[in-house]
Amino acid sequence: MENEIFPQGSAWMGGKFIDISDAKIPVLDWGFLRSDATYDVAHVWNGRFFRLDIHIDRFFASTKKLRMPCKFKRQEIKKILAGCVRKANFSNAYVEMIQTRGMSPTFDRDPRKSRPRFIAFAIPFGWILKPEDFEKGLDIAVSNIKRISPNSVDPTVKNYHWLDLISGMYDAYDRGHYTVLLTDEKNNVLEGPGFNVFSLDNSGLTTPNNGVLKGITRMSAIELAAELNINVSSKPLPVEKFKSSLEAFATSTAGGIIPITKINGKKVGNGKPGKITNKIKKLYWEKHVDPEWSESVDDLL
Ligand code: PLP
Repeated sequence: MENEIFPQGSAWMGGKFIDISDAKIPVLDWGFLRSDATYDVAHVWNGRFFRLDIHIDRFFASTKKLRMPCKFKRQEIKKILAGCVRKANFSNAYVEMIQTRGMSPTFDRDPRKSRPRFIAFAIPFGWILKPEDFEKGLDIAVSNIKRISPNSVDPTVKNYHWLDLISGMYDAYDRGHYTVLLTDEKNNVLEGPGFNVFSLDNSGLTTPNNGVLKGITRMSAIELAAELNINVSSKPLPVEKFKSSLEAFATSTAGGIIPITKINGKKVGNGKPGKITNKIKKLYWEKHVDPEWSESVDDLL
């Protein structure tokens, strides 16, 4: 469509760096027709990738679990991703790598006949909650819409099965809230569109362990909490317990550690971002210059 307007960005497809507006897949690709794809999203902050190796590890694990192991080597992927960032001239970016099942020349229904397709792109860094709204925090609705069961789709394989999350977002908008958190059949909270969650009580932090993507920001928050001597349990988090959190926050590559200040319209604590949340958030951003947690885009080119 000629009149489509794209954000600034660049992509890599079929061996070439191209403008994001030229990055297109055939309509017969199973990634589009069947959501038969996996992906990962890393970010660049002030010219440095954050924990890129861990994102690539997860991507390799996901492609393997889907029986389409990625044929690119780690260093090749790094070069491609860095190339996308460089071509678009970003110092802060949202950087995605995707592998779809691809398609078979005869449109055979057997997925083994398809040739996987690898795509990467960089667009401007995106936020689940804009930084100017962080003081206000996330106003979240807990939905009765159930996240797809982990018995059906493995949530640790980062995937595009988002219709439950999108329906949940509309449920939240209809109820006057900013975003949503889905639950499981046992009424435990799980995850939202693009984020994991943490809840604080007197014994420390709890984050759901089953039925969720093992977010890399979630992992970072667990490690940072340990550095700060804060206890973290990875275990089921019932809705009622979540609603009585002393503090709560969401974690995502798209924005880091994001305070949750309202659950179903009721204030969390005093309705302001919590002290522990702020401490973890501060340390999270400090790690962006630590060479053990980040690497320069220029060094990968
Ligand atoms: N849960 C889901 C369903 C996601 O899609 C994402 C990220 O997009 C997350 C959690 C957070 O993961 P990460 O911290 O790796 O960005």
